[in-house]
Amino acid sequence: MPSTPVHTPPAVENRLLAALPASDRARLLARAETVHLDLRRSVHEANETIPHVYFPLNGVVSLTSQMEGGDVVEVGLVGREGVVGLPVFLGVDASPFRAFAQVAGEGRRVAAAAFREVVARGDGLHDVLLRYTHVLLTQTAQAAACNRLHPVEQRLARWLLMTHDRVGEDRFPLTHEFLGVMLGVRRASVTIAAGTLQQVGLIHYHRGQITVLDRPGLEAAACDCYRLIRAEYERVLPAT
Ligand SMILES: [Zn+2]
Repeated sequence: MPSTPVHTPPAVENRLLAALPASDRARLLARAETVHLDLRRSVHEANETIPHVYFPLNGVVSLTSQMEGGDVVEVGLVGREGVVGLPVFLGVDASPFRAFAQVAGEGRRVAAAAFREVVARGDGLHDVLLRYTHVLLTQTAQAAACNRLHPVEQRLARWLLMTHDRVGEDRFPLTHEFLGVMLGVRRASVTIAAGTLQQVGLIHYHRGQITVLDRPGLEAAACDCYRLIRAEYERVLPAT
């Protein structure tokens, strides 16, 4: 069966931008351009000056660490709930991690220098970004604990739920290789874990396309780390 192209869902405003006072949002949007990130396109490279801060409208950006032996592992995940380029807010001009589109999408991009100006003059931007810093720290710390202790099927379910939330569509493209990077496991383990979730009817995985068939079932199959990370976001940055 030929695979149907995945259409890009309509862009809704990035949640951090939506949470800002109107004055801050207007100042940022006046300096922003809307850009499309193709699959694998970088927002910033590891150990290079971060040129832009990027607020996704859809799609998913992965923060990844490349080990000395060449292995690449995901260390963070950002969609329309967040921002890529947080080190710029924290007063740091580069990151050891590469940020790139793992699911293609659009976002609002602001040059790093212009972003710093808006933060310095802003009303509520500083507070929102501090809260998001806490949320991203929570996500990365809990994911580290999860990757250490929980079985790969539960981790895969958690990761698919996090991606599903950000993509906003039941169907999204995901290669085997990417899944291995996201989970930090070998391809064979990815095959087994995805096969297990598919056999019980939670997902369909074919030719690099994931379809979420049973969202409540996938939530039940995930470890509690998914709920912990999501609940902390909703507590600290409730929808406006
Ligand atoms: Zn877990």
